[in-house]
Amino acid sequence: MFSDFNAPFVITPFSPLQDTYRHQGQRRALARELRRRGIHDERVLTALASVPRHLFFEPAFEAHAYQDKAFPIGEGQTISQPYTVAFQTQLLNVQPTDRVLEVGTGSGYQCAVLLQLTPHVDSIEFNAVLFARTRQFLAALGAGGAALHCGDGSVGLPAKAPFDGILVTAGAPGLPPALLRQLRVGGRLVIPVGDNLTQRMVRVTREGPESFIREEFEEFRFVPLLGASGWRQ
Ligand code: SAH
Repeated sequence: MFSDFNAPFVITPFSPLQDTYRHQGQRRALARELRRRGIHDERVLTALASVPRHLFFEPAFEAHAYQDKAFPIGEGQTISQPYTVAFQTQLLNVQPTDRVLEVGTGSGYQCAVLLQLTPHVDSIEFNAVLFARTRQFLAALGAGGAALHCGDGSVGLPAKAPFDGILVTAGAPGLPPALLRQLRVGGRLVIPVGDNLTQRMVRVTREGPESFIREEFEEFRFVPLLGASGWRQ
């Protein structure tokens, strides 16, 4: 059964003044395109059809918002491609009571998508300029429901652990041990792992206190994860 992506906003009340029927139509088309590319979780498609991605762009670049591609957001960083956001979110398999940590807040778009699936979202950003900008922006957007932090997310967020899901949106050289420790039993870590050119998407599920299952998926290209368990700056 195909949904038509007209679900009302669940958690985040975006301003209807800035979100027109035209934008909503473009988002539904984007969601259909993502389904054609293999995204099958209806909750994820509905979340992407709900978050007004164009508001994360400068008005001059708004036309790019509903194309399936990444885009520069300043500070040498990018807002991830919608397909990548959908792919990672689907792998994370977020349940409505889950507590989720995102590493790499960036523009805040992925964070706003996660907030459509659970109200319990923490997100951490290393770059202080981006952190300050995105915190202000998400609050103005009415998506202030996430707890935003500034710091090195490659060591996780011990004060708020354990998490049911940890989503890393920057490319890591390996699995950060602290992130594995901060998973609840049954929890999932979704992280791109590789070199500076391409990274393979990896999902690690904590099956028991000392037992982890690792699955590998397709390749992507992310900006580098910095910090203690990331790449040298
Ligand atoms: N999720 C973002 C995409 C972010 S790009 C979005 O939806 O727009 C990756 C981000 O990870 C960048 O903003 C970068 O500054 C940040 N980053 C890199 N290393 C980090 C670290 N160790 N801890 C937290 N954030 C980090």
